[in-house]
Amino acid sequence: MTAPDSEQTRWKNWDHAYLWHPFTQMREWFAEEPLVIERAEGNTLIDSDGNRYFDGVSSLWSNVHGHGRREIVEAIRVQLDAVAHTTMLGLTHVPGTVLAKRLIEAAPPGLERVFYSDSGATAVEIALKMAFEYWQLRGESERTLFVSLAESYHGDTIGAMSVGYSEAFHKRYRPLLFPCLRIAPPHVFRYCRRASPEAALEQALREAEETLRENWKRIAALIVEPLMQGAAGMWAHPVEYVKGLHRLCREYNILFIADEVAVGFGRTGKLFACEHAGVTPDLMCLGKGISGGVLPLAATLATPEIFEAFLGEYEERKTFFHGHTYTGNPLACAAGIASLDLFLKDNTLVQMAPRIELLRDLLRPLSELDHVADIRQWGYMVGIELAEDVPSRRPYPPGQRIGKQVILEARRRGFLLRPLGDVIVLMPPLSTTEEELRRLVAVTAESIQAVTQKSEPRA
Ligand SMILES: *Cc1c(COP(=O)(O)O)cnc(C)c1O
Repeated sequence: MTAPDSEQTRWKNWDHAYLWHPFTQMREWFAEEPLVIERAEGNTLIDSDGNRYFDGVSSLWSNVHGHGRREIVEAIRVQLDAVAHTTMLGLTHVPGTVLAKRLIEAAPPGLERVFYSDSGATAVEIALKMAFEYWQLRGESERTLFVSLAESYHGDTIGAMSVGYSEAFHKRYRPLLFPCLRIAPPHVFRYCRRASPEAALEQALREAEETLRENWKRIAALIVEPLMQGAAGMWAHPVEYVKGLHRLCREYNILFIADEVAVGFGRTGKLFACEHAGVTPDLMCLGKGISGGVLPLAATLATPEIFEAFLGEYEERKTFFHGHTYTGNPLACAAGIASLDLFLKDNTLVQMAPRIELLRDLLRPLSELDHVADIRQWGYMVGIELAEDVPSRRPYPPGQRIGKQVILEARRRGFLLRPLGDVIVLMPPLSTTEEELRRLVAVTAESIQAVTQKSEPRA
């Protein structure tokens, strides 16, 4: 316990007095003592009372190489001494040019332009606006519709919510959102209708083809989170689904937008998820891990075909009229360069490969637990879905907050997680060691057991 008038207590009081937290029922928040993070070391966060916690969700899916990596800190420091911020409107700056070149060299071949912004949602808005305007510039202005996957998540701004509509989060904004064509990913068929993976894939692709065939003249683009629909609750797709959607987009001349905000920068075991499918999207959205997870930065990558549609004389008004004050902030770009350097220096993806398999092996026994309905994994992205009754897949009543109870158990054991409803998410930094992975999975299993056994009705 901390003294009532200590600095630590003051922070907690000020939080309750002044802050409004994202995605948080504040009444519930006020009922608990806030966890104040003060420092971090490697993959560990340290609170204001000195307690240590493993960062099991990479500080909301963003951290890549662990916290406080000297190389990233030093790169930011050097840039801070040079210039902290300038604009990209009418000027350019050193780390902005260097990172752009590095991103294009690392991205799937065919993406050749980088448009910076500052969050995943803005990277998505930019991709949507580019796609929409592209067709107008090409003289096909009837192409105004977007196609997206059911329960996909693309951020919380109006355009991103329109394509990434989630009933749970966005219901009340519906009148504000533009209409969108939605297709069901294979996960839905598999989970709800108990189809085999092959049958689910076939049905999902068939549905996608029908939607595209009927509407292609009015469709600007299809947007997907390739391989893993994160916020939906870690819905994994097979590689063939991404390939199939890309092929359909080519066939019907529809732009393919890959939202790699969550899956990019090594999460799935390759630098970008599209690499697994061997496809190059027309537009690719990057965020979260792009700066190593240390500063806000995002980017939308485009093909020359899209870029060149916007070229013209000034008075033709083909300019892409979009920008943000902190677009391509130099400190964030410097961090991004240092993070890409660390991928090479640490050999991150090669180091990860056997650990991804280890993680798969460690998770396997969890599917035997009474209330684990499904385990989905791509690389270092894992969703463990809990259900009150596994055979019928009956979920727990939402008011029981099973997912939240599990993460509170894990927190008592020194592991910070954040659930998506009753899906327990494991998303450790790519720098996580074998030993840390073992502990992470063991604690997750213990926490699930502690909560689900306790909530078992007594005979
Ligand atoms: C997190 C996320 C976003 C939004 O990024 P923000 O930086 O939170 O705006 C968009 N798309 C996907 C797939 C995400 O996971």
